[in-house]
Amino acid sequence: MPAAFPARRLAREDLHGLVVRWAGAREVVAPVREGNEVHWRPVTDAAQVDWDYASTMLPPSKVLYKPLVDVARFTRAGDAVATGAVEPDARPSLLLAVHPCDLHGILVLDRTVKGRRFVDPSYAAWRAQTLIVGLNCRHVGELCFCASFGTGPFYSRWMDQGPSDGCDLLLTELEGDCLVEVMSRPGEELLAGTRMTEASETDYAERDRLEESARSRFKKKLEIGGLPELLLRNLEHPVWERVGEGRCLSCTNCTMVCPTCYCYDLQDRSSLDLRETVRARRWDSCQDRNFAAVHFGNFRATRKARLRQFVCHKLSYWVGQHGCFGCVGCGRCIRLCPTGIDLAEIAGEIRRTEKAEDLKGKAEG
Ligand code: SF4
Ligand code: SF4
Repeated sequence: MPAAFPARRLAREDLHGLVVRWAGAREVVAPVREGNEVHWRPVTDAAQVDWDYASTMLPPSKVLYKPLVDVARFTRAGDAVATGAVEPDARPSLLLAVHPCDLHGILVLDRTVKGRRFVDPSYAAWRAQTLIVGLNCRHVGELCFCASFGTGPFYSRWMDQGPSDGCDLLLTELEGDCLVEVMSRPGEELLAGTRMTEASETDYAERDRLEESARSRFKKKLEIGGLPELLLRNLEHPVWERVGEGRCLSCTNCTMVCPTCYCYDLQDRSSLDLRETVRARRWDSCQDRNFAAVHFGNFRATRKARLRQFVCHKLSYWVGQHGCFGCVGCGRCIRLCPTGIDLAEIAGEIRRTEKAEDLKGKAEG
């Protein structure tokens, strides 16, 4: 089926001019290197952008799903209390140079906090006001395993998540120039008035060669066939006790940096005269020891139980809830874990145990 909008070849210096123009019309947020880390920051010029980054500390989905959002205001006058919603403060923005795993992370978050059952007004407002320019990934990190899921290194359909839902433009850096695939009408409008040539068969061939080259550089792999069921069968595997109780610090880093995590708590702030209270939605974490504390006790009081919940939610329960995995293989939870806990290794160990038991059973049977 022909693409709705033709792909173009854009000279690198013209991309710089485009970023300046976009930044004049909306806030452009892009990966910017600061010391050893790369963060999402407002930019006004393409030279500020780290085009060669492998991964950012926080994912771009968290630019849309803000850490602290006021959701309601209660005002007291005598015995009466007036209640009002706080309108989201979203403004026109553009996320620039988002890698495919993170584009899919945003689409996973769409299903959970902008889906049919529940809509987070702040996230929905920021999502509606934000254009996204994707960047196919050529810098495979040591801990990346998006290729195992099919969420990278180049952007394509994954578990009913269509490319045109995830970004407006998709860039691939070619020798000297850029291939620009146009995914939406707003994407086409972003290019208006720019000097470009229509992409040729040679450009697509170069793109395919670059994708193959990136794909061949993955060191980390996760076998996903039957994974949700495998984990459900192994909720009492010894790995949960050994890694959860032996190494997890309950620091919550893994959930804070995950592109698909959305858990939150509600907190009230009151004025000293108690006339006004503001209720805020604040990121929370299933790894926090108080997360599962309810009026009769704590139903995940141990680190073992909390680690198991995190890993099994991402790689198993999520599929039943939302029709896709809750992990896109970005590797952040592994890289930012102070003790290097690795959900792919945990799943791999469980699979190896089952295979060994199967072989033993066959040999004995
Ligand atoms: S679970 Fe870990 S590897 Fe998977 S998407 Fe979240 S942070 Fe990335
Ligand atoms: S980052 Fe590591 S130590 Fe911290 S809560 Fe997550 S698994 Fe535990």
